[in-house]
Amino acid sequence: MSGTFGHTRHLVARKEHRCEECGRKIAPGEKYDRHAGKWEGDFFTNVACGHCATLRRMANDVDDFYFECYFGGLGEWVSESYPEANAGDFTADLWLARAVRDFRSNWRKSDGTLLDLPDTWLEATA
Ligand SMILES: [Zn+2]
Repeated sequence: MSGTFGHTRHLVARKEHRCEECGRKIAPGEKYDRHAGKWEGDFFTNVACGHCATLRRMANDVDDFYFECYFGGLGEWVSESYPEANAGDFTADLWLARAVRDFRSNWRKSDGTLLDLPDTWLEATA
């Protein structure tokens, strides 16, 4: 990422935040990522829920161009680039497909409860 710097902190929410990727509320006690950086001369911050932070890393693994919209571009990636994405093998493709499906459901089960943070996805795409 030329012209860009910054760092991501993995935090636990003390108060409510809003995820800038999926738009949902991050409740106190949930893990989330806060990134502070600079993009083409402008400083910015980005807050992402733990679920979106995970999917972001997965997208970055399978799409060489994803970094161009890394922060705040996850919804766009899911609708425009994901259909072209190829995770490389069946298992990784399956995990990615599940993550995209759950992103579209705002990380909620059909009964409305929040899905557990999918640590296993990281292992599946490692
Ligand atoms: Zn999110």
